[in-house]
Amino acid sequence: MKIIIVGGVAGGMSAATRLRRLMEDAEITIFEKGPFVSFANCGLPYYVSGEIANRDSLLVQTPESLKARFNLDVRPFHEVIQISPEEHIVTVRHDGQEFTKSYDKLILSPGAKPFIPTIEGLAEAKNVFTIRNVPDLDNIMASLEDNPQEAVVIGAGFIGLEMAENLTKRGLHVTIVEKAPHVLPPLDQEMAAFVQAELLANGVRVITSQSAIRFENQGKVIVLENGQKISSDFTILSVGVQPENGLAQAAGLELGLRGGILVNENYETSQKDIFAVGDAIVVKQEITGQDALISLASPANRQGRQVADVIAGMKRKNKGSIGTAIVRAFDITAASTGLSERSLSMNQLPYKALHVSGKDHAGYYPGATDMTLKLLFDPNTGKIYGAQGVGKKGVDKRIDILATAIKGNLTVFDLPE
Ligand code: FAD
Repeated sequence: MKIIIVGGVAGGMSAATRLRRLMEDAEITIFEKGPFVSFANCGLPYYVSGEIANRDSLLVQTPESLKARFNLDVRPFHEVIQISPEEHIVTVRHDGQEFTKSYDKLILSPGAKPFIPTIEGLAEAKNVFTIRNVPDLDNIMASLEDNPQEAVVIGAGFIGLEMAENLTKRGLHVTIVEKAPHVLPPLDQEMAAFVQAELLANGVRVITSQSAIRFENQGKVIVLENGQKISSDFTILSVGVQPENGLAQAAGLELGLRGGILVNENYETSQKDIFAVGDAIVVKQEITGQDALISLASPANRQGRQVADVIAGMKRKNKGSIGTAIVRAFDITAASTGLSERSLSMNQLPYKALHVSGKDHAGYYPGATDMTLKLLFDPNTGKIYGAQGVGKKGVDKRIDILATAIKGNLTVFDLPE
């Protein structure tokens, strides 16, 4: 069987290696338009401060290592520019040349690209960066060689917070601008407040309920909605991502929510023998059953393995995602799983919220630190809707347990057990 995979990072490479484990004789080709495959997207911000000191440690695998260990044909600098679903052929561009290759099964894992809002003056700005891959990181590092002093991070989601921390640790004075009323919008306000306090304690200026409406002086000045002007030597734009769907759209694949590729529970798109996984697909928010875009590495990796199972003939269904996520901001960790109070209100679901403050381990034993947990559940059935946690240590463990409880359909009445 000839299998072609588009995109050689989280979902794509997980699919490739799992396919090899399941189908020893398959011909597996991975086309990646960028220079690197299987790199550590999640680690990129930590290279900015030097916490990850060695650039090579971000490059988890190479085409050579993947050939040697898994007999995969991995081709960086190869962009798939067209799919012909009827003929089962892709057209690939490499080094200015184009060629075609046929497939029996095609897996798309093209990911998501940074969302670039329309802001006056952005095109003329010379100091505004986004971060998605290693070339983006290289551009950022080159710009930081000029020793900028003032940095602005627009958007205080996961990547924005990580960049704010790492730029601060590099010695820049950082201002965060967030459109929502608080940083880390996936969390509820009172939980995100701990993170905001930690940012302030570490010298980060935080401006909320404001967005950038104009760049002046080639990006050196950022104008906010309220007219406030902030000077910036270096700006990171991290206001979310959108599915990389151009190839799928041109091939006539059905798209859904915000342009995400529609797949069924077997990861099949609307075209025969074309599958899709990762940030580019629309998934079901498992708790509400609603369509969602969940751009996280673990679901992408899991979906990559599952699509391999499906292609190899194993029974495996995508049951959806609950969006469990975690981030560190300086000395504090914030994590969440399932629905937030805000999303429950928006969905008009009846809920109760419970807050618990305690220590991460027994208080008498040295080193115990504070932790606050929030649990959201249905007061009638006890169904667990979601949880959030903030603290210095042990938050990951609590949220992992609650995420497992949600997946396993445990209720609040099971938790005391
Ligand atoms: P990707 O891993 O993005 O891979 C898609 C690849 O497809 C890209 O390399 C792209 O070049 C290639 N491609 C696209 N179109 C074509 C084409 N036509 N031809 C050939 N190749 C193509 N998630 C977490 O869970 N935790 C984190 O801490 C975290 N931190 C992150 C930090 C940063 C800076 C970034 C950018 C992302 C982070 N993520 C994190 C998100 C995570 O990296 C993604 O959810 C995950 O990589 C998605 O996997 P994917 O396979 O869908 O797409």
